[in-house]
Amino acid sequence: MANSFRAGVLGATGMVGQRFVSLLDGHPWFTVTAVAASPRSAGRSYEAAVDGRWALETSVPEGVRELIVQAVEADAEAIAAGVDLVFCALDLDKESIRRIEERYAALGVAVISNNSAHRWTADVPMLMPEVNPEHVKLIDYQRQQRGWDTGLIAVKPNCSIQSYVSVLTALREFGPRAVQVTSMQAISGAGKTFATWPEMVDTVNPYISGEEEKSEREPLKIWGSLTDGAIAPLEDVTIEATCVRVPVSDGHMAAVAVRFDRPPSHEEFVKAVTEYDNPIRQYDLPSAPQQLIAYHAEDDRPQTRLDRDYERGMGISVGRLRDSTLSDLQFVSLSHNTIRGAAGGAILMAELLVAKGYITNR
Ligand code: NAP
Repeated sequence: MANSFRAGVLGATGMVGQRFVSLLDGHPWFTVTAVAASPRSAGRSYEAAVDGRWALETSVPEGVRELIVQAVEADAEAIAAGVDLVFCALDLDKESIRRIEERYAALGVAVISNNSAHRWTADVPMLMPEVNPEHVKLIDYQRQQRGWDTGLIAVKPNCSIQSYVSVLTALREFGPRAVQVTSMQAISGAGKTFATWPEMVDTVNPYISGEEEKSEREPLKIWGSLTDGAIAPLEDVTIEATCVRVPVSDGHMAAVAVRFDRPPSHEEFVKAVTEYDNPIRQYDLPSAPQQLIAYHAEDDRPQTRLDRDYERGMGISVGRLRDSTLSDLQFVSLSHNTIRGAAGGAILMAELLVAKGYITNR
């Protein structure tokens, strides 16, 4: 890829924003040229703005340390003039996020969003690159409807669904019909560390606001079909979710029980997930895992600390495959919530949009 694109990060000082900045360091296609956050951080160097709250083990990348943090809203036009795309990792009310994302897209910027605000907007695709890459075509309609030329909005789904949606997609020939999932979600999913959320040490919290509804509904749009100007969600799969916060720094695990039209044997399950016919393999995208799903036969895998970094945090790990008395099969799956589930997944989406010609140099 000869092209190089100028990228901004909106919400660059937050937990997910930091991941974006760190994953984009040395990226072969994208260079961070703008970092933006609230007026509280604006006007300071990025290094000063994240001082005392940098949450990653790696240090603040050199290329962004001295960039001056701009204000997402007050500096929107100046930011838009200097970027081809922005990654959005803001923590704000949905109405403000919708307004901000639409403003940047109208200014000609490709907006790749980690936020939920536009996930159910009819003309906005919600993408998991290895699952529904064909939904990018909705952007043609979006641009035509809204009069955008280089601007666009594409969103990624919630971090909680990444592992089991990938596995169930690989098993679609067996007709998954009813899915019961309990997710065990890391504290970084709430933008926290143990230092900033000590109450989460040695406890399990059975409630994550809004998470169960997202976990049950979003897969149906992702598996839905592209119609004229919208995605019709899949109707013949039911998902019931319980989402629980656990004392883990990174890594969302899911315990899943599934009823199928034709239950796969254990051999068929393993073959289907490990030989999944990845529809974006031909693009050879820089952030794509070589092998999307790893199967573990050991009784005590996958484990969050041992397996969350599989394929640089972009892969899915699955194991604990067992027959189920109430359903057909049970398994446990795992993905890294701030990499695959947030910043890494969004960067992969942007790479797909470059490969398909939707993001261009302005
Ligand atoms: P966070 O750590 O609280 O960071 C929030 C970011 O938004 C900061 O950069 C903050 O800037 C900025 N911000 C807040 N108010 C603002 C305002 N009025 N104007 C402009 N910028 C403002 O949150 P996070 O965990 O990174 O999450 C960001 C979003 O991603 C959330 O919507 C979250 O639900 C979603 N998400 C998170 C994860 C995860 O694993 N953490 C996964 C998937 C999705 P200041 O530093 O200046 O305040």
